[in-house]
Amino acid sequence: AIPLVVSIATERAARGGVLVTDRLALERMRTVDTVLLDKTGTLTTGEPALAAVRATPGVGEEEVLALAAAVEAPSEHPLARAVVRAAAGRGLTVPDAGAFRSTPGVGVSAVVGGARVAVGGPALLAEHDARPLPADRSDEGRTVLHVLRDGEPIGVLTLADAVRPESRQAVAGLRALGIEVAMITGDAEPVARTVAAELGIDRVLAGVRPERKNEEVAALQREGRTVAMVGDGVNDAPALAQADVGIAIGAGTDVAIGSAGVVLASDDPRSVLSVIHLSRAAYRKMT
Ligand code: ADP
Ligand code: MG
Repeated sequence: AIPLVVSIATERAARGGVLVTDRLALERMRTVDTVLLDKTGTLTTGEPALAAVRATPGVGEEEVLALAAAVEAPSEHPLARAVVRAAAGRGLTVPDAGAFRSTPGVGVSAVVGGARVAVGGPALLAEHDARPLPADRSDEGRTVLHVLRDGEPIGVLTLADAVRPESRQAVAGLRALGIEVAMITGDAEPVARTVAAELGIDRVLAGVRPERKNEEVAALQREGRTVAMVGDGVNDAPALAQADVGIAIGAGTDVAIGSAGVVLASDDPRSVLSVIHLSRAAYRKMT
């Protein structure tokens, strides 16, 4: 039987945007000492905007952006949507593309005008053994996407992902409870560090491919930690399942519902604090 106090607490929580799908997860939340937060879509809005475009000599910046938009068109990744939005915002004609491919944590590619065009992060360059375009000072702290045509870099897009205003309060609140806060992301170290510094997060796990996030959770658990993982659920499902408490926030609920031990919260990262308070209140009254 479910203790009445827990039922009442979870009902109250549901009205506050916290939906508990696993009561054991809620109970474990009391003992969590480490909260691992996904960066993109969780601590940030997940709605990056295009900040700059650069092209190699002989290639136009608009050409680079139009090609990238063609390749990103079917992708639902927030970076892809920002690229497509930027091309539309500039009134560019986006060429037809086909034979789309997507590699999680790396990037996407498609055939455009007889050439294979690829768009992705540092891992994409590494896969093609290609040298990046010269870096620019403004790249620091931004997400850099490389655009390759038949394996040759032709341009760079930089995107800035806005930190959610509520994230800072969420991190401060967790730390005030004596909980260690860490950030996990597939993004590169400098981007991750910039966001972490803005939020007051010391521990950063950067460059983690989606399929390896659960291993990072397991590594923290082997250190003896009780871990809550907070993610937007799109590619975080295995990590949410591995964690002692998986908390899916925002839109990624479909995937999250399939993961064990999940608490669904509103897309406000402060709702993680609500889950802790809920857990402590509900189970303190029982014992
Ligand atoms: P996070 O872990 O921060 O949520 P992801 O694992 O979704 O990020 O993506 C990690 C990296 O993979 C991105 O920063 C980007 O470099 C690359 N990437 C993934 N999907 C795409 C895409 N559709 N277009 C370009 N790059 C992508
Ligand atoms: Mg994410």
